[in-house]
Amino acid sequence: MKLSPKYEKAMANMQVGIISAQGFLGDEEINLVDIINRDENEFNKLGLKFDEVAKKLKYLLEKGQKGLGEPITVDERWLVQVYEAKGKMPCPFEDYMAQKSVVTLTDKNTNHKLMYTDLSIHLIEKHHFLEGKGSTFRLEPKILKKILY
Ligand SMILES: [Zn+2]
Repeated sequence: MKLSPKYEKAMANMQVGIISAQGFLGDEEINLVDIINRDENEFNKLGLKFDEVAKKLKYLLEKGQKGLGEPITVDERWLVQVYEAKGKMPCPFEDYMAQKSVVTLTDKNTNHKLMYTDLSIHLIEKHHFLEGKGSTFRLEPKILKKILY
């Protein structure tokens, strides 16, 4: 299937070394729209909603920022550590400038961890994009469900 210009441009911006050193697509051999469709199906199967997941991740980021770089416990369940680097990073779809915040989130009950960024939240909310499998900040739907719910 041919990609629309919007997705073609975004996919070009996601290559290694364009916006970020590692890129956004990981080891995927399918195109951006197919990645998004596959993950939308996975979300549906698990009963997850993109806007709700984005809201939770944003809530934990904002709570975690109060730790000023140190890990803090949120709602007695999560350990959240937020690292804020200087500067901003553009969304590959060219509609947003993200803060360079990196969040490490640990579920204290199970010790499951995940990492995400301000840009991850935007990509989930606006583009239903979890990054490609094999990418540093790929968010697996199953892991999101385990840790957030
Ligand atoms: Zn965007």
